[in-house]
Amino acid sequence: MNATPAITMKANNPRTGEADYEFAVSSPGDIAAEAVRLRAAQPAWEAMGPEGRAEVLLRLADAIEAAAPSIAAALTVDTGRGAVSWIEVQGCVSNIRGWAARGPALFAGLERGPKPSATPGIEIVTEYSAHVLFGAIAPWNFPVILSHIDAIPALMAGSAALVKPSEVTPRFVEPMRAVLAQVPELPLSYVMGGAEAGQAMIEHVDYVCFTGSTSTGRKVAEAAAGQLIPANLELGGKDPMIITASADPEWAAGVALRSSIVATGQACQSIERIYVAREIAELFMTALIGAASEVKLTYPDPNDGHLGPFIFPSQADKVADHIADARSKGADVICGGEIEELGGGRYLRPTVITGVTHDMAIMREETFGPVLPVTIFDDLDVAIAQANYTEYGLSAAVLAGSLDEAAGIAGRLDAGAISLQDGALTSMVGDATNQSRKASGLGPSRMGDSGMLRYLREQAHIRQTGAPLPIDAFAEGQG
Ligand code: NAD
Repeated sequence: MNATPAITMKANNPRTGEADYEFAVSSPGDIAAEAVRLRAAQPAWEAMGPEGRAEVLLRLADAIEAAAPSIAAALTVDTGRGAVSWIEVQGCVSNIRGWAARGPALFAGLERGPKPSATPGIEIVTEYSAHVLFGAIAPWNFPVILSHIDAIPALMAGSAALVKPSEVTPRFVEPMRAVLAQVPELPLSYVMGGAEAGQAMIEHVDYVCFTGSTSTGRKVAEAAAGQLIPANLELGGKDPMIITASADPEWAAGVALRSSIVATGQACQSIERIYVAREIAELFMTALIGAASEVKLTYPDPNDGHLGPFIFPSQADKVADHIADARSKGADVICGGEIEELGGGRYLRPTVITGVTHDMAIMREETFGPVLPVTIFDDLDVAIAQANYTEYGLSAAVLAGSLDEAAGIAGRLDAGAISLQDGALTSMVGDATNQSRKASGLGPSRMGDSGMLRYLREQAHIRQTGAPLPIDAFAEGQG
């Protein structure tokens, strides 16, 4: 009998525009079989205890570090970014070492009891065990970091883990599989493919973490509800930055630019709307446009410059649509604004837009490109209301003359994490517990201790230390 040929997918090279990488898609049968294998391996993994698991995770970190050149090289092709790819791989290694260091202490600090109950004669002991099989679904914008950010603490907690990376950026999986072969005790493996593979995976796991767009997040939440499993969602954003009259305009311009355009703006925590006080607006705009004009594309030399190509070519169309919509409604594009096709890749220089209004897509929907729509405000209360006027509540930023002044504004912003006197700090700080608001997410924080504690199920051991009640205690006619 002939074996059924594997279904394959192709991935685009963002620098050349060529679909030059082919990979095998995991079939529903493959995913089911892998889930069975991992479920069988999980009890031994959990039985190793926190210290044993931490030791294996440290070996994983060492193996990734040793293989960093091949992983970063694959990631560089996936994303068109060189330096950021190295930072991503190193960030993944640090994340693993961080959980290996903190995990055992978190377990040691769990409250287990026994503690007395309010019910006489009863004491309570709490036992903790991990969800057996964890599943992660990841996007394409930071493929290595976001494929592992939730899986590593799940492994530390004692779960086995299936990870489905984005089909847009699959190249790093090959070198990562070679790394995993060196750490055979680790119950971690990858599911390859797109939406169908993601949906099939959800059918087999006990807990799902999803990072991606809000529209897909809703589908993941529905599928998880059908399975009655918890879903943590980390979704899109439309992050505002408020810059008050007391802020230094040149400093603010530098912070705003970096926070908006790093990784070509393809980051959930990118600043996507700027609200600047009229008193400093002119100086701010001069500095912003000056700094934007110095930003270089990483073309033709991929090792020189700041802004790489769009990873997902159709993302460039979406960004272009937002700019066209803003133009058609009367906005002024001060610099940038045109998608450039270079060597097969699609690029956009920093695009500063003024005269924006809140009926424009660029002020309401996630743009995910190096675009800075600027609103000049006279009344801080109005600016705060406008900053809160989107369906998103991921993160936000405040730049002011002092930390105290920024803090007074931060608490009024309806978002899960606020950067004060800087922007987009959530991408650099892993231990700030936060919960995304509104359509930007669902569930406990992936950052801070809850990143691991969320995977532990509590089992109550209710101990009778006295005499159990006789049946007569429940007999009728004694009230
Ligand atoms: P996406 O929603 O298109 O895809 C994300 C993942 O979901 C991919 O692996 C994809 O194959 C899978 N998928 C697609 N349809 C599915 C379905 N029906 N069921 C199950 N899985 C499915 O997102 P993207 O375009 O890859 O990533 C960009 C988005 O991710 C942006 O909105 C960005 O803001 C968001 N993001 C959020 C965070 C955060 O922490 N909040 C971080 C990074 C990116």
